[in-house]
Amino acid sequence: MADQTESESRKLLRRLRDSMAEESAGQERLNHITQIIAEEMRTEVCSIYLFRDAETLELCATEGLNPDSVHQTRMRLGEGLVGRVARSGRVVNEADAPSAKGFRYMPETGEEVFPSFCGVPIQRLGEGLGVLVVQSREARAFSEDEVYALEVVAMVLAEMAELGAFVGEGEALRARHTNPMLFKGGIGQEGVAEGHVYLHEPRVVVTNPVADDPEAEVERLRAAVDTLRVSVDDMLKSVSTDAVDKDQREVLEAFRMFANSRSWLRRMEEDIAAGLSAEAAVEKEQSTARRRLGQSSDAYLRERLQDLDDLSNRLLRILTGQGVDAADMPEDAVLVARNIGPGELLDYGRGKLRALVLEQGSVGSHAAIVARAWAIPLLVHVGDQITNEALNGDYILVDGDQGIAHLRPDESVVTAFRDKIAMQAEAQKRYAGLQSLPAQSTDGTVISLNMNAGLIAELPSLAGSGAEGVGLFRTELQFLARSRVPRRAELAGIYSRVLDAADGKRVVFRTLDIGSDKVLPYMKREDEPNPALGWRAIRVGLDKRGVMRMQLQALIRAAAGRPLSVMFPFVAQFEEFKEARQHVFDELEREDKLGHALPEKVEIGAMLETPSLAFAPRQFFEMADFISIGGNDLKQFFFAADRENERVRRRYDTLNVSFMTFLGQIADRCAESETPVSFCGEDAGRPIEAMCFAAMGLRSLSMRPASIGPVKHLLRRVDLGEVREVIREGCESGEQSVRGHVMDWLRRTA
Ligand code: PEP
Ligand code: MG
Repeated sequence: MADQTESESRKLLRRLRDSMAEESAGQERLNHITQIIAEEMRTEVCSIYLFRDAETLELCATEGLNPDSVHQTRMRLGEGLVGRVARSGRVVNEADAPSAKGFRYMPETGEEVFPSFCGVPIQRLGEGLGVLVVQSREARAFSEDEVYALEVVAMVLAEMAELGAFVGEGEALRARHTNPMLFKGGIGQEGVAEGHVYLHEPRVVVTNPVADDPEAEVERLRAAVDTLRVSVDDMLKSVSTDAVDKDQREVLEAFRMFANSRSWLRRMEEDIAAGLSAEAAVEKEQSTARRRLGQSSDAYLRERLQDLDDLSNRLLRILTGQGVDAADMPEDAVLVARNIGPGELLDYGRGKLRALVLEQGSVGSHAAIVARAWAIPLLVHVGDQITNEALNGDYILVDGDQGIAHLRPDESVVTAFRDKIAMQAEAQKRYAGLQSLPAQSTDGTVISLNMNAGLIAELPSLAGSGAEGVGLFRTELQFLARSRVPRRAELAGIYSRVLDAADGKRVVFRTLDIGSDKVLPYMKREDEPNPALGWRAIRVGLDKRGVMRMQLQALIRAAAGRPLSVMFPFVAQFEEFKEARQHVFDELEREDKLGHALPEKVEIGAMLETPSLAFAPRQFFEMADFISIGGNDLKQFFFAADRENERVRRRYDTLNVSFMTFLGQIADRCAESETPVSFCGEDAGRPIEAMCFAAMGLRSLSMRPASIGPVKHLLRRVDLGEVREVIREGCESGEQSVRGHVMDWLRRTA
């Protein structure tokens, strides 16, 4: 940019900053700003349009158009040239605006006399706040330098808006971060919670977007980038060079590439030359990257842009000295994050956490497993940039049953929500009354209800939930939350404490189920085209015997003198089960030889999670001491519908005729060989589904502890023979799912 333009741009920004310092109300300040911009840019018109709601822009200040149209002229997103800028997040620069595509004539503003139009988005970190427009009588396109200067100005306006400089009367000038907002997401874990927002990575607040001394700012920026480079290099040194740290290395290499990128630094230095502070320059480039991130469909590019975004946050923290202090966490924290790893989540601990809200994440992600283990409501894939909108300390309600978060809710929402919590508490009380009663249906069938767990911390619920035992203890968490393979003694200690806590109740340990989405940071992994169908669970265990054997040894030692139940995940054929089972025998023999006490008795089971196993030879069913249906996986493979993919996840009903028939066949095969069979997928915790499974012959179900009460409550009210008959009729009705039949029957009889 020419020196002349540079100093003009700086002068303009200085005047804007001075307007910030003036004691004036939001509207007055906005009016003044449009005057300053029109004057400095030598245009007849300067207008500022701000979002009134997500779909509507409102003219909030103007120099040059009819002042009466302020707060009167509105346009929908995408409507007219202004709407086009807002929708696309891109500059529109037209020498002959009236003949441009999408031009909308607004007589109240008298704009037909201004042929040239330049509109730039006012946005902060990829979030659109409004549009800044200049127009001039002379029919000309604005130069590149002028457009750039306007972008810099728009950036400063965005920061000023963030700092509350334009707060005034009316919707469009409402203070930011004060509106009640509703966010929708996927359900990672049901339940309701209220609390206060705690941001995993709090937004950095830039209080000084404009700087006087560009040289000093460039110095600050360079010093911060140096610090950043050193910290990235240090991080890189701390990860080993062997293949196990490959993924982490890749991210850090990308960080290093950006930290050393000359073009990144050059762009930020240009922004500073135009008058921005070092922080504002970082944020301006970060905003651009985020916008591209939102528009790119290339997965690799998205990842790299994400890296750049993370790196920018680090740089901002270095520049501002603002950081994260977990000690500030409120007592009723709702953790809000773009994403979070299981280790980071475990670091926060269950203590103060009431709920977890993620912009990304997925139902089967590691963090989701931890949240489920802690039984706190979890929302994933929450849209509308909640991490940009929420501020630390904001009041928030999380409805994990509906997949909704209410940020800064109105009184009426709070009242309705509290009523719901009270009703649930009331129901829990009712269920607590059933705690010591059996899950016996009216026809006398007793169903064994068990709980799923994955952390020792969950076991206290065993006593209170009315569960008979732990039907599924997922052993991944102890592996996922560490940076290295846990040691045998460590695991034996944990498993032994699990058995202690269960106090004689049966605990079914599932051996390590990794692969697919559950990736161990320290394990060599090759990229697989379809990880869910790839090298996972028992396949890894049989190929990497060391880990499986170590885990079996730990289980045997933990059980010493007590019964041990162990099952293998994702068995697809008889041979796999035979081989894994043989490992248990080998390890028992080895432990015996070493003089360790053996378990009192050992049961070895298989998880039925692939349709193929349902058709295994009879001998498999005879050999397995028990079978546990992993419905989450079984359903995804039965319908060929990815359980992680929000688009298809709920497409097929569990009570689909085909699936119910299939479950019935599995139950029949198990009955023929007298093999105990249970169902431990998430569906077992849904009362209607649980009732249907029981009616199809499954006599044992395992679910999250909070579901035991509701499931027991329903089971105790129905005759399973009748339910079976209703399911049979449903299967023959030609309808896709038996749900309609079952619900009708329940309504008639209950
Ligand atoms: C299942 O697949 O149903 C199951 C219980 O295992 P996970 O959810 O851990 O894959
Ligand atoms: Mg599974």
